[in-house]
Amino acid sequence: MISTFACAVAMGYTITLIPGDGVGPEITEVVKRCVSALGVDIEWDTQQAGAGVIEKEKKPLPDRVIDSIKRNRVALKGPVETPVGKGFRSVNVELRRALDLFACVRPCKYYEGIRSRILNPESIDLVVVRENTEDLYMGIEFMESCGEDNPFLSFLKEQKGVELGCDTGISIKPISVRGSERIVSFAFEYARSNGRKKVTAIDKANIMKYTDGLFMNVAADVSEKYPDIAYEHKLVDNMCMQLVQFPEQYDVLVLPNLYGDIISDLAAGLIGGLGVAPGMNVGEECAVFEPTHGSAPDIAGRDMANPAGILLSTVLMLGHIGEPTAAARLENAIAAVMKEGARVTADLKAEGDASPPVGTREMGSAIIERIEAGAP
Ligand code: NAD
Repeated sequence: MISTFACAVAMGYTITLIPGDGVGPEITEVVKRCVSALGVDIEWDTQQAGAGVIEKEKKPLPDRVIDSIKRNRVALKGPVETPVGKGFRSVNVELRRALDLFACVRPCKYYEGIRSRILNPESIDLVVVRENTEDLYMGIEFMESCGEDNPFLSFLKEQKGVELGCDTGISIKPISVRGSERIVSFAFEYARSNGRKKVTAIDKANIMKYTDGLFMNVAADVSEKYPDIAYEHKLVDNMCMQLVQFPEQYDVLVLPNLYGDIISDLAAGLIGGLGVAPGMNVGEECAVFEPTHGSAPDIAGRDMANPAGILLSTVLMLGHIGEPTAAARLENAIAAVMKEGARVTADLKAEGDASPPVGTREMGSAIIERIEAGAP
């Protein structure tokens, strides 16, 4: 299902790098230094996108960025700002749409030394697989209106006998058999190729029978093709409680878009927060790797951002392009620095540790030293 990386040139790779906004340039700089220390021959095709390019290029995601990713098939992306409730459409949503990156994969694994509120967090090692293209995120919305531009209200009254006030906004939730089949199949293939044992499909099929019910039925059908992987179904409200109480019981979770978005953040919270949560968005042709956190404008340009999220995304990227040894070396080096807890950014400092935190660059240097020393 995941495309094999096809742009190795001689012994090297060309990969699109989108530094992004806010803390993006600081943390992507650390990635470049770490990859260089690993000795993997990557030529970065740097493409600026986001708020910074709008004035000159009139849009936050110029075509040259999409063309670069299509050409290179793999990208590493820093966070990009999205204005709330106004301004341009999310670059992230636009990228996923333009490249049909239908699967968002967020591994949530606990690393020693990280603050977590969960008892025995070391037993947590789960992967959230979220459908990326359908559901309420398609943006099919109707603003509240009492004028003739709101024909939907009369349609609902005639077709469904439902009378809504004209002060009602409406969002449409499309979920298809094709979209559900491909994300659930992806989750099972991912489980199989990563030595995982169980897939849990999650929705609210008891209430939304034609959308979540469809997702549930498709998931059950797809599961029959994978007798080697255990399968179960859970309702999303119950799942929230289960994840807080018994996170160690879960392995691969597959969800429609909205629930996947929410459960991804819940799962990131279990392992210590957004700062250490990596992610990738995968399609048939391309894959874009990025941290879960945003552009952190409150600390941008202050050498305070934790680079672990994007470095762990780089671990996923190295695995994807066929560099598993480099991926393991980088992951071990990050884990060793976080476990030691001395040269880490402020957000990673353990409670009661009075020693001063280090900056983004210095934490990067600590990781590079570990790589060079052959961590662990
Ligand atoms: P955020 O993740 O940027 O910040 C939330 C909090 O976490 C802030 O206090 C921030 O300082 C802290 N934080 C985030 N990353 C950190 C890091 N690496 N190290 C240390 N602390 C870190 O979320 P937000 O404030 O809701 O969003 C800011 C902007 O980022 C918005 O424009 C939003 O749309 C965008 N965003 C982009 C992406 C993406 O590009 N994938 C994802 C989420 C948010």
